[in-house]
Amino acid sequence: MDLSLRFLGAAGTVTGSRYLLRCGATHLLIDCGLFQGVKNLRQRNWRPLPFDAARIDAVLLTHAHLDHSGYLPRLLREGFHAPVYCTAATRALAQILLPDSAHLQEEDARRANRYGYSRHHPAEPLYTAQQAQQALALLRPAPYYHSLRIGEARVRFTPAGHILGAACVQIEAGGRVVTFSGDLGRPHDPVMRPPEALTRADYLILESTYGDRLHPQTDVKAALASIINETFARGGLLMIPAFAVGRAQDLLHLLTGLRTEGAIPAVPIYLDSPMAIDVTELFIRFHREHRLSREQCEAMARAVIYVRDQEASRRLGGNRAPKIIIAGAGMLTGGRILHHLRSFGADHRNTLLITGYQAPGTRGAALLAGADTLRIYGEDVPIRCAVAAIDELSAHADYAEISQWLSHFQDAPRTVFLTHGEPAAADHLRGVVQRRFGWNALVPELGQEFALD
Ligand code: ZN
Repeated sequence: MDLSLRFLGAAGTVTGSRYLLRCGATHLLIDCGLFQGVKNLRQRNWRPLPFDAARIDAVLLTHAHLDHSGYLPRLLREGFHAPVYCTAATRALAQILLPDSAHLQEEDARRANRYGYSRHHPAEPLYTAQQAQQALALLRPAPYYHSLRIGEARVRFTPAGHILGAACVQIEAGGRVVTFSGDLGRPHDPVMRPPEALTRADYLILESTYGDRLHPQTDVKAALASIINETFARGGLLMIPAFAVGRAQDLLHLLTGLRTEGAIPAVPIYLDSPMAIDVTELFIRFHREHRLSREQCEAMARAVIYVRDQEASRRLGGNRAPKIIIAGAGMLTGGRILHHLRSFGADHRNTLLITGYQAPGTRGAALLAGADTLRIYGEDVPIRCAVAAIDELSAHADYAEISQWLSHFQDAPRTVFLTHGEPAAADHLRGVVQRRFGWNALVPELGQEFALD
C-alpha cells in the first residue's frame, strides 16, 4: 500500500495544523486548524484548498484549540461530508470554541462592511454560526486507546496532556505506523497529566512550539503568592487576562489552593468569562482525564465567583476592594479584561499579571514592552499599575521534555518531521533529535509531500 503525507499547515509556523495522509485509497486529514496571528497568515484561511475536500474519508482531531480544529466549518463549505473523530472531551470543548470562532468571523465581516475595508463587497465571514453547528454534527467521539478502523487504516488516540481531551494520534496502515504528536503537554503540569509514552513510530510528526526553549524551573505557586501579597500590601487588586481553555483552570486551581492554605488573603476570586466558566464545568464532567478529583474540581468551582452577566462584570469596575479578577482575552485583544483595565489600569497599587505567550502586535505584548498607555475603545488609557509576568504555566513541553518523551521509542523512526514551530524553534529541535538520538529529522515546508515507504 502506498502511503503519502502532505503538509498543508503548521509548517514553518505554529498555527494552521492540517496534514493530509493518504493510505492507499483512504484519505485522512489530521487536524483542520485555522491559521492565526499576523494578517498574511490569516489570509491563508481564504486560499482555495489544494485538495478535494469531498474526497476525505475522515478528519482526525488531536485537540480542540482553534489552530487545530477551527477550519472545520470552512472544510464543510468546500464539500467535506465525512465523520470527524476526536476524544469526547475534545468534542465538548469544540462545542464551546467553534461557535465562538464563528461569532468572531461574523463580527469581522460586519466590521469590514461597516468601514468598507474589505476587497469583497459585501465581505463574507470565513464561516457562519450555522456552519459551525453543521460541523459539530459531524464530530464522533472515540475513546482513548481504542483501535478504530477507517477504510484501510487503524487509528488510535492516546493522552497528550496539553489541554483537556488532547491526544496523540497513531495511524497504522500497510504495516507502517505514522504518529502525530499533536500538541504535547508537560510532565509536571499542575492540572493535566503527562503525555502518555509511546514506543513505536515509523514516521513521527512532532510539534516544536518550544523546540528552542527550556521553561523556568521556579516554583510557580510561590511566585504567584508573592505577586498577590505585594499587590494587596499596597491596597491594590489583581487582574489576570487568561485563555478560557486550560490557563484559566490552572489559575483557579493554584489560587484557590493558595487561599485555602492561607498563603494569600481570603479575597474574592472572580472568573469573569462565560466561556472559561463553561470550560471549567467540563473539567468537572471529565475529571478522570486530569489530575484533579471530582471533589477538588467542585471545591474549586465553589470557591470562585462566576460572572456570566455582562452587567455584573461592569459592576466589578465600580468597586475597588481587594480582589482577583480572571477575564479574557488572554492577549488583551478584546474581551472583558479591557473594561477592567480601563477601570483599574491607572492606579499604581493594582497589578496586571500576564501568564502566557503574548503575540507581537497585541496589547499584552505592548504592556510587557513597558507601554504606559493603551488604546481601549478608542480612548488612550494611562497604565500606571504594575505589570507582572509568570512564564511557568506553558501547556507545551520544552525541548528537554520533548526529548524525554522521545526516549520511550524503541526503534528510530525512519523520519521525524518537525512542525508547529517558528523556523528557529523547529530547526533547533531538529538538531536535538539528530544529535541526541541520531535519528533522521527534517523541517517540512508548506505544501511539501513525502512518500512514506
Ligand atoms: Zn494546542
